[in-house]
Amino acid sequence: MQKKYWKPGMLSKVMKNNNNQIHYFIKEKSLLAHIAAWKLNTSSVAIVLGHTIHLHNTKKEDFLKNKRWLNHEICHIKQFEDNGFLTFIFKYLMESLRNGYYNNKYEIEARLAEQEL
Ligand SMILES: [Zn+2]
Repeated sequence: MQKKYWKPGMLSKVMKNNNNQIHYFIKEKSLLAHIAAWKLNTSSVAIVLGHTIHLHNTKKEDFLKNKRWLNHEICHIKQFEDNGFLTFIFKYLMESLRNGYYNNKYEIEARLAEQEL
C-alpha cells in the first residue's frame, strides 16, 4: 500500500521513531520545491507532501546528513499521517493565513522535533 507513493528516481527510506516506523520518499530536483524556493526567495528547500520530501537545490545525501532538517520534515510527514492528506493541507493553510509561517503551530511542532535524536 505504501508502494503507491514510489516513483522511479525516488529514494525510499524508513525511519524508526518512538516505536513506529515512518516510511518516506525523497525526490530530488522537484519542480514543486523549485517553485517554493522561488516563492520563498530562498535557495535550498524541502517540502513535504504526504510521504514524499521534495528537495530543491540540495542532494538527498546532504539532506539526510542534516539530522535536524530531516527531523523537521519527518514531523511534517507525521502531521500528514495524523490529519489525513487533504485535511492537513487545509489546516496548514488556515494556520498560515491566521498566524503566518513562523507561528504556524505545525511549524512550531516541527521546529521542536528538530532537537530529537
Ligand atoms: Zn516546516
